[in-house]
Amino acid sequence: MANPSLGFSLVGGRLAIDFANLPSLPASTRANSLGWEELIGFLRATRIVSSERAEELQGLTESDPRSAYALLNRAERLRDSLRVSFDRLAKKQRIPHESVQPINEVLRVTEGHDELVATSRSWGIEYIARESSLDWLLAAVARSAAELITEGEATRVRLCANPACSLFFYDNSRTHRRRWCSMSLCGNRHKVAAFARRHGLRKRGA
Ligand SMILES: [Zn+2]
Repeated sequence: MANPSLGFSLVGGRLAIDFANLPSLPASTRANSLGWEELIGFLRATRIVSSERAEELQGLTESDPRSAYALLNRAERLRDSLRVSFDRLAKKQRIPHESVQPINEVLRVTEGHDELVATSRSWGIEYIARESSLDWLLAAVARSAAELITEGEATRVRLCANPACSLFFYDNSRTHRRRWCSMSLCGNRHKVAAFARRHGLRKRGA
């Protein structure tokens, strides 16, 4: 799903891949290359947070800038480490240890335990976090990344075949031969260009 209003596309097929695909802001705008609006927009679009919570978080850069920027820095580190990891994974190369550190750092904050909680009719199991820091917002992304990285050589993490595109995707196709992040973004463009090329050659040859 490419959603132009979000400023990013959710074509990755896995949470961590979509996160790795988050674009960088133009270099001059801010110290961080990941935007706060983009980060919150992502958390909301992927339903990690509700729209009410997203609105609350939007205001955090004003109400608690220190926490907001700490989260933004961690998110940016995570995004960059995922890009390195997935690039190596897609190329079947060894993933450097240092590039999984930011993933482990986020996994570490998700310590907690299950607890039985009473619901209206019966009992349910609820996960109780030991710490309730904002880093929790990145936990599902880190978990998703860890699962992908353990796929190793058999992985279906791929880099789009369009050299001008740097999006990753998960190849869920039956034949495992998908080449494009999305048909509408890159596949069609390529087919049109290839057709024009063939057509042009034939015309010149005729
Ligand atoms: Zn692409």
